[in-house]
Amino acid sequence: MTVGVVYDPIYLEHGVRGHVENATRLTEVMSMLNGSNIREKLAFLSPYKASIDDIARVHTMEYIRYIETVSSAGMASRWLDADTAVSSSSYQAALYAAGGVMTGVDCVMKDEMDSVFALVRPPGHHATSNCAMGFCLFNNIAIAARYALEKYRLERILIADFDVHHGNGTQEAFYNDSHVLYWSIHQHHLYPGTGKIDECGEGAGKGHIVNIPLPPGCGDSEYIRIFDEILMPVMQRFEPQLVMISAGYDAHWADPISTMQVSITGFARMVSRLKQIAQQYCGGRTILALEGGYNPQILALSVKATLEVLLGSEEIEDPPGFSPMKVGEKDIRDILDSIKKLHCL
Ligand SMILES: [Zn+2]
Repeated sequence: MTVGVVYDPIYLEHGVRGHVENATRLTEVMSMLNGSNIREKLAFLSPYKASIDDIARVHTMEYIRYIETVSSAGMASRWLDADTAVSSSSYQAALYAAGGVMTGVDCVMKDEMDSVFALVRPPGHHATSNCAMGFCLFNNIAIAARYALEKYRLERILIADFDVHHGNGTQEAFYNDSHVLYWSIHQHHLYPGTGKIDECGEGAGKGHIVNIPLPPGCGDSEYIRIFDEILMPVMQRFEPQLVMISAGYDAHWADPISTMQVSITGFARMVSRLKQIAQQYCGGRTILALEGGYNPQILALSVKATLEVLLGSEEIEDPPGFSPMKVGEKDIRDILDSIKKLHCL
């Protein structure tokens, strides 16, 4: 299995001191990878810079110019809302973040790699066509998916999003689009409040948005159950030509901003299911874009475990293990039934 990792130090230059979404997240990941036994098996790739036209596949020109202007206004940092800040390098970092996921698309579509993990900042899945939200400026995965549809004339792309927050921006981008199936598993009532079961697409996109909001306290067994009972049958119908993953690790039990109870082993099992889908339908072509995950040590271990799965390792390392808080399995039958009914599964 050939596995690529996209990274560039420009990703460290975005952000403000003291913010939970900070450069330490990536420095921790990179130092763990550099000191690990999988380093020599990975191909490290440099991202290219997305053009304005690339970003405009998802965002309005007015919004792109706004981000450029506020980012280069000569101030050390500026807050765009209560959560999202830009520094003087943020615009450049954001262009390379979108370009980083696009670099992954090119590598797997040209069969240079089986899978590519774009370790980018700022993250993207909350950014809408005209609004920065939830630490996100440009919607990296949506931009790269549109690029893949256009450049490689694809017709069916899966975007699977296991970040603990709903990717409202990605959903918005493809709400009326039959070419992308957006599938999100997230904690109900958490930021940004979207992602209800009945938000399932409109027009040509009807049925191509699959939202699975889960109650707090769910862990590996509930997540895997959702993968097996919802995602797998939906994919049998959709038959994706490319698998893209919004890989956020903030559903981990030790993450500071959610109350889910997923373990690193749980993330590895989810990635394994997604890899299986990619192998079954599209020759293993998989692209991952980093989203959340705010405990830097846990994030680093989770990314490493993800790469181990992509490399085909039989065993992954999970030093923190399972949640000490997780007792029993949550009853999610009603949620499953509602989703199955709505999507005719
Ligand atoms: Zn998140």
